[in-house]
Amino acid sequence: MRRIAIVGGGQSGLQLALGLQQHGYKVTVVTDRSGEDIAAGRVMSSQCMFHTALEYERELGLNYWEAEGPYVEGMSMSIAGPDGSRPVHWSARLERPAQAIDQRVKYPRWMQEVEDRGGALIIERCDAAGLERLAKEHELVIVASGKGDLKDLFPASPARTMHGQPMRALALTYVKNMTPREEFTAVNFNIVPGVGEYFVFPALTTTGACEIMVFEGLPGGPMDCWGDVRTPQAHLAKSRWILDTFLPWEAARCQDVALTDDNGTLAGRFQPVVREPVARLPSGARVLGMADAVCLNDPITGQGSNNASKAAHAYLHAILERGRESLTDEAWMRATFDRAWTGEGVGAATLWTNALLLPPPPHVLQLFGAANTLGGIASRFVNAFDDPRDFGGWFLDPGGAERFIAEQQAGAAS
Ligand SMILES: Cc1cc2nc3c(=O)[nH]c(=O)nc-3n(C[C@H](O)[C@H](O)[C@H](O)COP(=O)(O)OP(=O)(O)OC[C@H]3O[C@@H](n4cnc5c(N)ncnc54)[C@H](O)[C@@H]3O)c2cc1C
Repeated sequence: MRRIAIVGGGQSGLQLALGLQQHGYKVTVVTDRSGEDIAAGRVMSSQCMFHTALEYERELGLNYWEAEGPYVEGMSMSIAGPDGSRPVHWSARLERPAQAIDQRVKYPRWMQEVEDRGGALIIERCDAAGLERLAKEHELVIVASGKGDLKDLFPASPARTMHGQPMRALALTYVKNMTPREEFTAVNFNIVPGVGEYFVFPALTTTGACEIMVFEGLPGGPMDCWGDVRTPQAHLAKSRWILDTFLPWEAARCQDVALTDDNGTLAGRFQPVVREPVARLPSGARVLGMADAVCLNDPITGQGSNNASKAAHAYLHAILERGRESLTDEAWMRATFDRAWTGEGVGAATLWTNALLLPPPPHVLQLFGAANTLGGIASRFVNAFDDPRDFGGWFLDPGGAERFIAEQQAGAAS
């Protein structure tokens, strides 16, 4: 029986561990917090996942919240004008729904499942010496520790890292009692030029259904405003202030909102970095990085958990197909990362996410404006969140955008 160690019990680490167990592999998961600590702790993400990433969980039977968790059926886009107006406002349905299950709900359940299926779950903060020990006892060590310090073992890849600093001041506010959208449930995405972005969508948290507010403030701007917030109630008040000031149509849905719980808030910032996938320990042993540990994106496009699920899926199949051959051959390790980066579109998601952190170029503003009347543009934009490889030929390419708009206009006129 092959023995594999995974450091980091999060989206990618637990999903891969449970997948390997189903195929008879012996797994050790080392993670720094117990399920109880996670469940009782602070929110970590907004974790909205689209169809492909959800399907990878479903293939492994890990979708325990289908009945309970609200579905996200579509997405809307608004751009705020300087006078409180809304010059861009459109929405479209997802072909297949998205869903967000609070990681405080998901991870403890999956951790329990790893143990129930006979895996070793070690609650311990792993460091480089711990990786050395794991490397001696296992045929492969995967580092899936997300934004934690272990990522620094993997050298940054300058060619794939587009921004040299954090690009947004981030905040999360988990609330209940928000007025539901009419027509269908959705991610409401709002852009306030020069200030930042705000998106909100239904989710399942520890106390039941909720809405998750995500704030992406431009550094130094008025939405970069969390430094002096000391209490959960002050965090909620600041969230409401942002909506009252810049997004009146979103504020109107929030007359009665209350926090889901005192741990339903988060504020912080980090630099998006892509790293080399293989690190060499002082002993010469190699470890393989997965998901955020080696490909950390800003949450502006809600792709991190999706990328993590896609990476876990890619790594699972790469390991299975490897059969009895070495799992520490560097070329194979790099090819495994590439299976996620290229084969699952994690690289395309990263490129597109990094592009959205910059002021929108003229062709993107044109696309957003044209989508007010051309539903085909709205629909393509919304559905490409599931597989961002689709953005390359039109959203990221001025010529492609022009052709796509012309095509849609011609279709509408005929
Ligand atoms: C504000 C915000 C909003 C987001 N919204 C979305 C969204 O809507 N959609 C989306 O797809 N993604 C979103 N993300 C990103 C998403 O949450 C992450 O990309 C995803 O969780 C990454 O999965 P992972 O497996 O790499 O790491 P994680 O899920 O972070 O898991 C890593 C685990 O490793 C543990 N760990 C860390 N260091 C150590 C150590 N030294 N030893 C042992 N264990 C360790 C951690 O405690 C954690 O349990 C958001 C992120 C943020 C910050």
